[in-house]
Amino acid sequence: MNQLQMSYDVIVIGAGHAGCEAAAASARTGAKTILMTHHLDTIASMSCNPAIGGLGKGTLVREIDALDGLMGRVIDETGIQFRMLNLSKGPAVQGPRAQADKEKYQARMREILEHYPNLTLFEGDVGDLIFERDHIVGVMVGDKRFEAPCVVVTSGTFLNGVMHIGEEQIQGGRWGEEASFGITPALKRMGLNLGRLKTGTPARLDKNSIDFSVCVRQEGDCPPQPFSFLTEDFNPEQVPCYITHTTPETHRIILDNLHRAPLYSGQIQSIGPRYCPSIEDKLVRFAGRDSHHIFLEPETRGGISIYPNGISTSLPKDVQEAFLRTIPGLENVRILRYAYAIEYDYVDPRELKPTLETKKIHGLYLAGQINGTTGYEEAAGQGLIAGVNAALKATGKDKDLVFDRTEGYLGVMVDDITTLGVDEPYRLFTSRAEYRLTLRADNADLRLTPKGIDVGCVGKERQERFMRKKTCLDSIHGQIKTCYYTPSELRRNGFKSATDGQRRHLLELLAWPETTWKDLCRLNPILADLPNDVAEQLEIEGRYSGYLMRQQADIDSFRKDEGLKIPEGLDYDKIGGLSAEIVGRLKKHRPATIGAMRHLTGITPAAVTAVISALKKNK
Ligand code: FAD
Repeated sequence: MNQLQMSYDVIVIGAGHAGCEAAAASARTGAKTILMTHHLDTIASMSCNPAIGGLGKGTLVREIDALDGLMGRVIDETGIQFRMLNLSKGPAVQGPRAQADKEKYQARMREILEHYPNLTLFEGDVGDLIFERDHIVGVMVGDKRFEAPCVVVTSGTFLNGVMHIGEEQIQGGRWGEEASFGITPALKRMGLNLGRLKTGTPARLDKNSIDFSVCVRQEGDCPPQPFSFLTEDFNPEQVPCYITHTTPETHRIILDNLHRAPLYSGQIQSIGPRYCPSIEDKLVRFAGRDSHHIFLEPETRGGISIYPNGISTSLPKDVQEAFLRTIPGLENVRILRYAYAIEYDYVDPRELKPTLETKKIHGLYLAGQINGTTGYEEAAGQGLIAGVNAALKATGKDKDLVFDRTEGYLGVMVDDITTLGVDEPYRLFTSRAEYRLTLRADNADLRLTPKGIDVGCVGKERQERFMRKKTCLDSIHGQIKTCYYTPSELRRNGFKSATDGQRRHLLELLAWPETTWKDLCRLNPILADLPNDVAEQLEIEGRYSGYLMRQQADIDSFRKDEGLKIPEGLDYDKIGGLSAEIVGRLKKHRPATIGAMRHLTGITPAAVTAVISALKKNK
């Protein structure tokens, strides 16, 4: 056979959201990288909703950006509507979200990757993975052999993908695209544990057939906030979305045809995302509700395709046609593409280390939907982590990029999936992060960029920008903390609450709810000249200082527990509350710390608590 030999430091399979970030991160970290994907035209394709960000997810995009990832910058350049969700609530639960022009998003991502130093793009179907003992050494594309000590698989919903529309079943990885069949057997050969999950997408509708006059118009924010810490002078032209709703007649048609829905007929066996259910699933689970919101979101700035957010389904085409026409504004709707569900293989993420390298195969990393997650942002975040770690390993650097739960949503997500596994597609929420007041969208750079700089995945422009902000913040902190105001000075300047005889510095005045940033600037004009991002940090710090201090104490205690050393000879048999299976695993692996113990397969939070209390008692 005529085999073309080619070697790289890192091979990335799949150019979805995980693959794009993995390839760029690997190349940026100094590894000679190749990104292989079925079609270059589908790079960064948005398989489902044309939007980036949201609650939790928006913060994740800021974290990806803080590590010099691409998603934030590309959506800033190609978004058509920007909103900060939960603006009326505290900063811990706010999340930036943007509607994308999905075609422009894809085109811009492809353009960036095509010119990315250290990165080669290659079109083809990876049909097999090549292993030597417990190491990956390369991949096969047709009869071409590509070699690399590290491979990142980001194959999304494509592994043995089967799409369902009513009784119809079609093999494919996404609408109009072939599935991938070679990777699952290769992973099984090496003993990885795989399962099957399901997700779904709504129909796409012709804008010209919708009566928007009966829908509620929803505008973007004015002024909008960008995702990227690098974006300046942000003033995109925005388009509106519209809101409509299902009716009792919609519900009647769907419920009458439930037996034809693959989810209920038994045709689909696997589990879908509980927090992003299909409309038939919603009607069964929330039987008392007679209406559900539907957001009509444009897929591009000038095109005709509308994404009706909230009504994904796998019902047959005739039922889709019938129920859509009972929705206000959609009475005469034309369907551009029918809704469908898809089932695909995923790997149990407990097979992974926190670097996203598999425990069983050296050099093999997995990221994105293949790890049982759902969502572009979750995929992109994992892609970045896997890409950086693969590059560090392939180039022989003795470092890795790992975050714990106190450092970022990236840490929360990786910790959740690698320690607990998934029993449905995993999605990020603010409620998953116990330290969410600290893990905010506004301070992602302060939390993560230094670690990114340390491992070498942050470019020069961002490093310089970050250092400028940090220096400015440090200097103003120094000045604020040496300048206290007496109660009489404060009262003279209009601070009526200054009645307790306490001297206070500027940020302490923000603990009084009536104090505005402008009041502080009046008191000390040095604040008025600060850049917006620095002023924003100081204001949040001042306003939430009490809560932030309490959370810092919790974080310190978590870190102490994570670092707690487990003595070599600890007798696990003597610790109450541990199952025989867990004792067996602990004896086999002998983790050195509690942090390492948590990442062993099959270890439950209760087991961790039992060992911590035994260690503390022993002390
Ligand atoms: P993908 O974006 O799927 O990209 C995988 C890439 O790998 C593709 O480019 C593919 O061509 C390539 N590839 C695969 N195998 C090979 C191979 N062997 N050789 C070469 N290239 C290969 N997310 C939500 O958050 N909410 C939803 O409601 C939702 N609904 C969805 C509905 C549908 C029908 C689909 C398909 C996806 C849905 N998603 C949803 C998921 C969302 O699209 C994914 O979470 C996200 O795209 C995952 O990114 P990824 O990079 O892991 O994979």
